[in-house]
Formats: sequence, structure tokens, C-alpha cells
Amino acid sequence: MTFQELGLNSDLVKAVTDLGFENPTPIQEQTIALLAKEKTDLVALAQTGTGKTAAFGLPMLNSIDCNDKSVQALILAPTRELCVQITNDIKNYGKYLKGFGVTAIYGGARIDGQIKDIKRGVQVVAATPGRLIDMIERRVINLNTVKIVVLDEADEMLNMGFKDDLDIILKETPGEKNTWLFSATMPKEVERIARNYMNKPAELSTGKKNEGADNLEHIYYVVSPRDRYSALKRIADFYPEIFGIVFCRTKAETQEVADYLIKDGYSADALHGDLSQSQRDFVMKRFRSKTLQMLVATDVAARGLDVNNVTHVINYNLPEDVENYTHRTGRTARAGKSGIAIAIITPKDSGKIKDIERIIKKKFEKKDVPNGLDVCEKQLFNLVTKLHNVEVKDAEIESFLPAIYEELKDLSKEELIKRFISEEFNRFHEYYDNAPDLNIVKGAVDGAFGNSRTTRFFVNMGALDGFNINSLKDFLADAAKLQQRMVFNVDVKSSFSFFETESKLVDTFLALNSQDLEFNNRKIALEVSNRKMKEGGRSGDGERRSGGGGGGGGYRGGERREGGGGFRGGEKREGGFKRPRSTGASEKTGGFTREKSFSRGGEKPGSDKKKTFGKSRF
Ligand code: AMP
Repeated sequence: MTFQELGLNSDLVKAVTDLGFENPTPIQEQTIALLAKEKTDLVALAQTGTGKTAAFGLPMLNSIDCNDKSVQALILAPTRELCVQITNDIKNYGKYLKGFGVTAIYGGARIDGQIKDIKRGVQVVAATPGRLIDMIERRVINLNTVKIVVLDEADEMLNMGFKDDLDIILKETPGEKNTWLFSATMPKEVERIARNYMNKPAELSTGKKNEGADNLEHIYYVVSPRDRYSALKRIADFYPEIFGIVFCRTKAETQEVADYLIKDGYSADALHGDLSQSQRDFVMKRFRSKTLQMLVATDVAARGLDVNNVTHVINYNLPEDVENYTHRTGRTARAGKSGIAIAIITPKDSGKIKDIERIIKKKFEKKDVPNGLDVCEKQLFNLVTKLHNVEVKDAEIESFLPAIYEELKDLSKEELIKRFISEEFNRFHEYYDNAPDLNIVKGAVDGAFGNSRTTRFFVNMGALDGFNINSLKDFLADAAKLQQRMVFNVDVKSSFSFFETESKLVDTFLALNSQDLEFNNRKIALEVSNRKMKEGGRSGDGERRSGGGGGGGGYRGGERREGGGGFRGGEKREGGFKRPRSTGASEKTGGFTREKSFSRGGEKPGSDKKKTFGKSRF
């Protein structure tokens, strides 16, 4: 069926055609056909990505009177981002309707501008509940004329505690209106809303209840909690063209992970409720325009976001509430595209995977975290493709070429290719050479910590000697002539400390005892520690948050959360560093904006030099 055949008026058909919608999606087909001939309440089970905004937006616009400037339709949505997105979509659908207006009402922005918009007269209002109540109390909006109320992401509005607000708002609307409820999942609370607020609602669904999209692949990796961040980086490196959302559980964790990624040279930023509205807008703008490759977000902040072509949704932690998994993964595999949902789990989360499988009625595939060689191979071929497709600015480069040809004239084509490729490839190779296997080894000691791959050391130096985590790490790595990443999980006590290293390096560290190393006139002594990890200052669930002091989000002198796995070179810190603000400013290094070039994770801070140099020369 075409939109026209379903009964949409020609102005709306023209607008959706402009948007490139050729045929209605299944949910649109159902809602448009039903609502064109019947005024009814409706409960629709539809995930975002199925075209649900148009599924309610088009029938809504089909039935409003544009000559009447009163508010005829009200859409309630849980977050400001979703509210703005819906408003923009509705604006697009209604662009050929003469006299039509839609406006968004949401918290965190000045209310006077929104009041002005309402006073100008609009037929459709999309609102978050809190700000709408404020407007109602100020008597600047009149909902007596409303004929249609849409509750979008109803389950999430209830999750966010908007139940009382919904009661207040719905009481302000006339009894004879129609209510259309859209929800990706159908928990009991939503069914109760449907019972309490609706009159014999029609029920529509595009699939079975709470099922995920078909074109979505679900993968999980099992790692030790300590390796979670390293696994995330591995994944990002393994998918060089990733355009994804990384979901964390808390705002603090979200900020922390984003900070680490930014520091490690990835094109990433955070989206959560502790950011100001302008910061959130800025982050979203960059993500939408794909100048940002990875959006690290909380469930609430990224709820309902419609960003095209998201390739991956990564569950850095599985959601507390397994139903939220459907919401998270609904950010990808949208509008018929395929997508990959990845969960980084620890052994104790395995039960949750089973719970989710039951809800989505699909099986996860357990995969091994890519090893160093896998990543290098992927990066190498990505590089080759990029080299093949690079835009050549003939006019700009021409004058330099004769000298360059002269300089390289002794090299054959094969040699040249090898060298060009090596210029980038070496960084990855060097970094991933000897990179540890992040997969939980079967039969590891406790499946979570302290498996036989690593050994814990005691050293007789501590805070009283002036050491902090970083300086001790530097000191030990220097003494053992190793890369810093070989010293991890450093735990500085007052007069002594603990650290971990790979078990194969035990002899190297023990050998330091015979070198009579001194610090402040005290001989350094190292011993293999028998103390179990958990006694060494781990937090209750055994997971250490080295950067955040137990999830507080604070940043301690640049120490990383990860242990030995996948640590970029160039991680040396001079004392503490400030948390980068979520503005993108932190991604600028010496005049070179990393995100523009989709800077790769393999980048060491120092490697920007090459690019800065390039820029200043040309
Ligand atoms: P939604 O589920 O409303 O968040 O929409 C998901 C995406 O699908 C949005 O980017 C829409 O622009 C797009 N979309 C919605 N309806 C159609 C359609 N009939 N044909 C093609 N794309 C659509």
C-alpha cells in the first residue's frame, strides 16, 4: 500500500516523499489505515526505528484543522532530546500544510520563548511532562481544545517517575479526546496506563511483544571487570568505521568512560543529565553530523534518539533493568538497516544474557574479544581502503610533487606502498604487539580477578615516600625497563604499595631486588604478594574504578581503569590532568581537530605531531 492509498492527504504525501519515504513501514501502514477511518484510542507496541514518529505524526496531521490556531494535539515524551526530535519530524511532515505550527516545550531552556511560541498559536505541542505542568500552572497553555494525546515512550516516562505528572496533565485534557500510546516494551505499568486512561484501545504491534529487530546481531564478550575498558577499546579498534553508542549505567561512569576514550585519542564524548543543555545539544549535533564516532550515554539521555546509520550499540555494562536492553539496541538497525549490539559482560552477568534472550526471543552469539592480530588486520585493510578512496587535492599538492618524486625516486611501487602503509600500521602493530588476551580464560582462578595471567607484587614504597599511583607506576616501569602498561592495578598505601604485572614478568621484577635500587636512601624491596585482590582495596563487587573512586566520576591523576590490557603508548601523565570538558575543545590538539579526521584509537597523543606538522607545512 502507498501512503496515498492509505488515505493521507496529498500535502502529507508530498512531504514524506521529499523525505525519501517511498512506502509506509508496517506500523505506519497499520496506524494510518486505522486512524484514517476511525477515531479511536490506540496502544501500539513499536520500537523506535520502526517509523513510529510518522506512525502517529501522519494520522495526527491528517486530522487537525490548520485554520484553527488552538492546540489540537499533544505529544508527551520523556526527554528533551526526543521532544525536539519529534517536533522536527512533525515540522517536516507538515511543511506543506498552510497555517500549520508545531512547537516543543521542555525543561532546561528559557520558558519565555516557549510561552511566546504557544501564544503565537500552534496546533501541535510536543512536551516533556515537567515543563508542561509548569506551563499549565502558569496558565499559559490551554489544553481544553486537545483532540489527540500521544504518550510516546510511555514505558520510559513511567520509569522516569512521570506517573503523577501524567495524571495531572491528562486531567487538563478533555474527556472525549483520543489517546495513542506508543511503547517499545509493555511492562505491567504501561498496561495499567492503558486501562486507566483509555477507552477500548485498538492494539497494534509490528512484531511480537518486546522483540528486537531482525536485522540486529547480538554479540557478547566475557572479560574480567578489570578489562572492561580495554575490551571497549579493542572493539572500537576492531571496527574502524564504528559509529556507535556506548551505554553505561551511571552518569559518573558515562563521563569517566568518555574521558578515557577522549584521552586515548578516540572520537568520543559523553551525553548524560549532568551536562548543561547547551553541552548536550553540542554533543548531539556533533554525533548527528558524524563528527563524533562514539557517543557514551546513559539510558535516559539516549532514550528514543533517532540518529541514522548507527552501526553499533555497545553495552559497556548491561542495563539494570533487562527491558532497557531493547531500548538501547533500538538505536541501531533502524529503518531496515542492519546493526550490531555488543555486550561486554563479566562471568557473573551470564544469567542476565539468558534473561535478555528470553525477552528479545533471540540468541546472543558469544565471541572472543579480538586479539591484537585481528585488530591489526582490520586496521590494515581499512587503511588500504582509505588510501584508495582518499580525495587528492591536485591543485594544492601539485607544486610539492616534483620535489617529493625526486626524494622517493629510488623506491619501487611495492616499496612505496609498504612504506606508506607502515607509517600508520606500525603504530597499531607496536601497540598491539604482545597485547594481552582479554578473554576470560577457562579455569582462571576466580573468573573475575587475579587469574593466573597476572601476579600481584608488594613493594616497600608508598605515599610517605611521595609516590602516587602514576609516579609509582612510572618508577617501577622505568626500573624494570618495561612499558608503563606492564604495571597496573597500583594500590598506594602509606608506607608500602601493591601493583600487578603479567605473570611472565615476575622474574624481571624480582630481579630488581638484586640491583640495590634506592629511593630517598631506602633500598627498594619487592615481593610477590599472597594477598587476595579483594583485600587490596577493591570495591564491594570486586570491580575497581581506578579513575572514579568507586563510581564517583572523579579523575585521579590520570590513572586508568584498565589493568594491563590494551594500553596506548604515550600514556605518561605529568601529575594530574583536568577532566576534559564535554565540548570537543579537548579534542583539539595543537590546531589539529582529531574528530574531523575520525582519528583512530590507535593514536598516541604524540602522534598528532605528524598531523600538526603536516598542517603547518601545507
Ligand atoms: P522512528 O521510529 O520514528 O524513530 O523512525 C526511524 C527512522 O526511519 C527515521 O529516521 C525516519 O526518518 C525513518 N522513516 C520513518 N518512516 C519511514 C518510511 N516510511 N520510509 C523510510 N524511512 C522512514
